[in-house]
Amino acid sequence: MAAGNLRQLIIRKARQAGAQLTGFAPVERWAEYAETKEAFFPQQVFPFTRTVIVLAVPVFIPVLDTTPSVVYSELYNTTNRLLDEMAYRLAVFINSKGHRAVSFPRDGYGDISVLVARPEAAFSHVLAARYAGLGTIGFNHTLLTREYGPRVRLVSVLTDAILAPDPIIEESLCIRCRLCQKCCPTGSFTDTRQPVAAMDKSRCALYHKELKEQYRYPCGVCIKVCPVGADRERYGNQTQKYLHEKERLEKNPQDQAYADWIHIRTFGSINSNDK
Ligand code: SF4
Ligand code: SF4
Repeated sequence: MAAGNLRQLIIRKARQAGAQLTGFAPVERWAEYAETKEAFFPQQVFPFTRTVIVLAVPVFIPVLDTTPSVVYSELYNTTNRLLDEMAYRLAVFINSKGHRAVSFPRDGYGDISVLVARPEAAFSHVLAARYAGLGTIGFNHTLLTREYGPRVRLVSVLTDAILAPDPIIEESLCIRCRLCQKCCPTGSFTDTRQPVAAMDKSRCALYHKELKEQYRYPCGVCIKVCPVGADRERYGNQTQKYLHEKERLEKNPQDQAYADWIHIRTFGSINSNDK
């Protein structure tokens, strides 16, 4: 089958399976940009790889706003199931067209305690998505997209098919407002002088471990508050509400300005009021 036809079929299949964004990254981009160690290049991970296809699904702002909550936790689990299933089905489809292809699972760690000790995965979907033209890497280390800002979840399919690449977005979408840093509940952003902040990933992972034990994992505050993305136009910007959330709820855990989020947080998970 001609590569152009296969590319179109892949885009259609991915869309039908639920992907809102699909991008194609040739493996050469990993060496060209040299932003990670060679062992993490897709052609090292699975040596037959010539193209990485990245799929993305959105996270709804109103649900994310309630974090930490079981409602956001369930949404996170739903996106995870969908991502792995989409990527698996797409890899099988590409196999059926005579090409090698595998899906790389969206997370790739057994338990959060592993991330506390070594906060790294064998392959970065964020970097793959950047090379597939889906977005740019923000101050908060996440992929920022035009459509959903950092509120996307990602998965990749690695294949030997040579497929036309998408152009990389060279200009950063991050406006360096630092809202992510200001609202981070753990102060995990350390050296903030760089375009992408240095981060204490173990501190962030430790907090996630705590949240997981309370059934309201993950945190997600640094993607919740980011003002970038067309999804903001749909749901509105709540910068002031985000900025003062921690301080106001510490003073008054029943602050009426946050009544909607407090209500959802009250049920289905262990929260600070239960202690
Ligand atoms: S919140 Fe601001 S600084 Fe942080 S990633 Fe988004 S745009 Fe960049
Ligand atoms: S996930 Fe939460 S704890 Fe971790 S860096 Fe983002 S805001 Fe901070």
